[in-house]
Amino acid sequence: MEKIKMPAFMEHGHWKMFCPVCKNRIFIDPVTDTAVCSYCYPSMNAMAFKPIEGGLLEQVPHVRLREKTRKQAEQDGCLYSAEYPAERVQIEAVMRERPTAQNMNWYYEGHPYMLANGMEKQTVEDLIAENEGNGVSMKDFVLPALNVDPNLDPDGDVVVKRKA
Ligand SMILES: [Zn+2]
Repeated sequence: MEKIKMPAFMEHGHWKMFCPVCKNRIFIDPVTDTAVCSYCYPSMNAMAFKPIEGGLLEQVPHVRLREKTRKQAEQDGCLYSAEYPAERVQIEAVMRERPTAQNMNWYYEGHPYMLANGMEKQTVEDLIAENEGNGVSMKDFVLPALNVDPNLDPDGDVVVKRKA
């Protein structure tokens, strides 16, 4: 089944999309570049107890239930594919210069945040200017090329191993 594509935006350092069904903001899995809505599929957040030393229990992600839920969502046509901006790698590189995740935000043109603030497209140059305006030194910053694989850092080291 062809996956529904949703535009990606960065909020607090995470790539997110809007769920096309319930309109909530949902996290994009950076390994598969897909998302399942945890509001539509609450079991995506399922936790389990794992016995630890001293007879205690520790809460851990319920990996099997989450995987089962993900498969169900895929069967339902609710596994969504992320549509990143062409400047994804450049945006990420500029954001990594910011000291706190809270300030790592980028929205596509027409995103409700942009509309609410009367803003037009935010370019990579705008983001660099924002950094400089907020005291982040961009002196030694090297902007990666547009065609760099997003799962490599600018030096060519593998950051995330992508599934086929
Ligand atoms: Zn939803």
